[in-house]
Amino acid sequence: CGIVAYIGPKDATPFLLEGLQRLEYRGYDSAGVAVTGKGAGLKLRKAKGRVADLAATVPARFKGSTGIGHTRWATHGEPSDANAHPHLDNAGRFAVVHNGIIENADQLRARLTAEGAVFASETDTEVLVHLIAAHSAEGTDLEEAVRSSLALVVGTYGIAVLDAEQPDRIVVARNGSPIVLGIGEKEMFVASDVAALVRYTRQVVHLEDGELAVIRAEGFRTFTEDARPTTRQPSTVDWEI
Ligand code: GLU
Repeated sequence: CGIVAYIGPKDATPFLLEGLQRLEYRGYDSAGVAVTGKGAGLKLRKAKGRVADLAATVPARFKGSTGIGHTRWATHGEPSDANAHPHLDNAGRFAVVHNGIIENADQLRARLTAEGAVFASETDTEVLVHLIAAHSAEGTDLEEAVRSSLALVVGTYGIAVLDAEQPDRIVVARNGSPIVLGIGEKEMFVASDVAALVRYTRQVVHLEDGELAVIRAEGFRTFTEDARPTTRQPSTVDWEI
C-alpha cells in the first residue's frame, strides 16, 4: 500500500516512520522498516497494527544511512507480523517492500522452494526477495539482480530493495504502482505518494511504468527493464503543506 525509502548522511529511521504516518490515510493493516549502513548488517522491525505501535518498538540503536519502509494492505496472506513487509532473503542480506500483486507468485514460489529457498510468509511479495538473492552472485550489482528478477515476474509492483552488502544504494522499480523520487541536498527520498516527502524536498521525479532507478545519496539513475538508460528531469511540487 505505502512505500518510503531514504539514503543520505542522516539516520533513515525518523524519515521512514514519519513518512509512513503520512501515508496512513490510504489505509493499511501492518507496517515495517528495515535499515542498513556500511558494515552495519540489516536491521528489521515489522508488525501487524499501527505505525505508532511499530515506532514504539523501534529501539534508539535502530539506525542506518539507508532504509526502506512499508504500510501493507494485505492481498495475499492474512494481516500478521510474518506477512508484514519488508521481506528478507534467507541470508538476511536483501530486504524488499512491495505494493501491488505478483500474479505468478505460486509458480515462482514452487520453483524457488525446489531450489532451496525457505519462505517465512504467505505473501506474493516474498518471491521477489528470494529471486533477487538467487540472481545475485558474488560481484553482481543490485540493479542487475533486481532487473533480472523482475523479468520473471508477471503482475503489478512498486518496489524498493536494500542490500546490506551494497548499502550505498537503493533500487526501486515501478509497474502499475507509483514510485516518486525526492531529490534532496546529498540525500534522496522515495515514496509511493508525494505526501510522504514534500516536507523534505519539492524536487521530484515520478517513475514511469517499466522503469527502474538506482538511488544514491548524491543522485539517481533511471533505466528500463531491458537496461536502456532513460532521462528524467525533476519537476517542482508547488502544493501548500
Ligand atoms: N500483495 C502484497 C501483500 O499482500 C502487497 C500488498 C500491498 O500493496 O500493500 O503483501
